[in-house]
Amino acid sequence: MGRSIVCLTFDFDAISGWIARGMVSPGPVSRGEFGPQVGVPRLLALLARHGIRSSWYIPGHTLETYPEACRAVADAGHEIGHHGWTHRPPATLTGEEEEAELVRANEAIRKLTGRRARGYRSPSWDLSPRSVDLLLAHGFVYDSSMMADDYTPYRVRRGDVITLEEPAAFGPETALLEMPVSWTLDDYPHFEFLRTPTSVLPGNMNANGVLENWIDDFTYLEQNLAWGVITYTFHPFVIGRGHRMIALEKLVRTLTDRGAVFMSLEDAAAEYLQRSSGPAAR
Ligand SMILES: [Zn+2]
Repeated sequence: MGRSIVCLTFDFDAISGWIARGMVSPGPVSRGEFGPQVGVPRLLALLARHGIRSSWYIPGHTLETYPEACRAVADAGHEIGHHGWTHRPPATLTGEEEEAELVRANEAIRKLTGRRARGYRSPSWDLSPRSVDLLLAHGFVYDSSMMADDYTPYRVRRGDVITLEEPAAFGPETALLEMPVSWTLDDYPHFEFLRTPTSVLPGNMNANGVLENWIDDFTYLEQNLAWGVITYTFHPFVIGRGHRMIALEKLVRTLTDRGAVFMSLEDAAAEYLQRSSGPAAR
């Protein structure tokens, strides 16, 4: 029997994601507020019931706006990872702004946990060409924002040259480990209704239908890989609604019954690094 690792990860954006989009009126702010006020206590209770250590990527804006909710997450023993300060994607920032955000939010994480973040997840999963070097310079072990694999971590490249009319020239691998994500395993696009001046994200999918996909992705891992990690991404203001909490608990119960090993992303990264340095790699 293989070792199927499940990482439950939570992007605790609260109101920062709406602010980053310029949506600062009471409606969107209240939508984000559901996270710290309602979603987080429900999620912490569910994780405690099942004895699961998870990973939380918290923007500096949330850390400093909702310190009590963040303290509750840290006190429950969950990993606290980096998720920017303003929730603006690095690809939209200057180099100076990107590094300033890294430092400022890392300092807020250090105040909360006593140590800087080991893991980084970029807002909106969009790194800049500078991000890898900055993450290495600031001591990060892993990133969790990219999608080139599903169940197997991999080394992040630096210095790719990607242009329209020439073949891509890929740079060398670095020490930074990627713990890959996927929009299919993210609650947001399935569930959130979002209307902007140029687009509509319909969301509001049947949670049991989405749950079926999420379970089948675990089944494929279990049936095809001797060792692998599946990473689910949730947002407290999205997954914290009643019917979705029921789906999340069904997911946890089903995977537990099937022998899944739940752990934080930093622990899964450490296990991968240990395996890949020895004869048992992959
Ligand atoms: Zn986010």
